[in-house]
Amino acid sequence: MQIRPERLLADLRELATIGAFETGVNRPAFSAEDLAAREWLRARMAAAGLEAAVDGVGNVYGRMPGVDHAVLIGSHSDTVPYGGWLDGSLGVIYALEIARAVAESGAARRVGVDAISFQDEEGTFLALLGSRSFCGEAIDGDVAAARSKDGRALADALAESGLRGRPPARLDARRHVGFLEAHIEQGPRLERSGGQIGVVSAIVGIRTLRAVFRGQADHAGTTPMPMRRDAGAAALMFGALLSERLGAHGSPDTVWNVGSATFKPGASNVVPSEAELIFQFRDASDDLLTELERLIRDAAMECARPFNAEAEVVRVLETRPAAMDPRLAGLIERAASELGASAARMPSGAGHDAMVMARHLPAAMLFVPSIGGRSHHVSEDTSESDIVRGAQVLARAVELLLQDGTRSPA
Ligand SMILES: [Zn+2]
Repeated sequence: MQIRPERLLADLRELATIGAFETGVNRPAFSAEDLAAREWLRARMAAAGLEAAVDGVGNVYGRMPGVDHAVLIGSHSDTVPYGGWLDGSLGVIYALEIARAVAESGAARRVGVDAISFQDEEGTFLALLGSRSFCGEAIDGDVAAARSKDGRALADALAESGLRGRPPARLDARRHVGFLEAHIEQGPRLERSGGQIGVVSAIVGIRTLRAVFRGQADHAGTTPMPMRRDAGAAALMFGALLSERLGAHGSPDTVWNVGSATFKPGASNVVPSEAELIFQFRDASDDLLTELERLIRDAAMECARPFNAEAEVVRVLETRPAAMDPRLAGLIERAASELGASAARMPSGAGHDAMVMARHLPAAMLFVPSIGGRSHHVSEDTSESDIVRGAQVLARAVELLLQDGTRSPA
């Protein structure tokens, strides 16, 4: 079973012309360009011999006919606004090329390959809409409530796309033996370490918290320091202590940021009566995230005290870490080693459709290096040799899985 590098690269480049912007792509979910790209993909899948259709939420799903079971391969073809040409598209075109290579190998088989491009992974309306719908998760309420940043309702976008009412593509527990997603790394680790293939161990969990400090607004010149209840000073101290605690108690992979800070009333000559910090921290271990959250809550109380302020810490959002299937990840590693590619295990700091899929069936991810770690920007790129190598490694991993012939890879 052989993939054809020229055909793979030509398809990737052709897909990138749909919604092309400078050296990147502007193809947010349900834009005219996104829908055109989905129709293009459907036709490509059909030409590859797959039974292909765009479903009721915009997922493009191609089923290999004549097989009892299938490895599902894919990613997403929507982009962030003015994003790069490979984020999502890489994994979708790998799926197409591997399905073609399996069909061309001609061998009779019980286990084949299905290809998919999920809708709205990037969250223009509702992050991971396509994979959540595909897995049959309860999303009707989220779909009804979802709006884009400019106020367009997802329900309207669905109606205008002409897709509403089409049957949903669905995960089939009897058919699908596992899910494989290839993606650009979107970070600098592989490039820095000289690694050629990233084998994802887990997709990190994310906790988003809001800390609110409440004090008393007073004149900034006339109120003696011991009499102040300075919510702003407490919040600034907390911001510094947060970094110290996460640095001391997190794992080497723990990352965090304070993404928003607001002071009220927000004037230079008023002691702040209220200060709010919104921050995130991420790690692959849910137990560690829980322990870190406890330390953070303690730190907020510690910082409020010296300023006679009150602290409240609220969890805004929680995404649980998703472990990748060790056997599927092992097959990617074995494939890399057989092809002489250097592989490194690493967590994914970004969310992916594989995170949703892993809740329902064994799933694994392969990363290829991102030049300069850049992504979500028109400068996003990966060398041709890395793109081709990634496809060859994933194809070999699929071949190993198909040869195995077993129903369940778990
Ligand atoms: Zn992506």
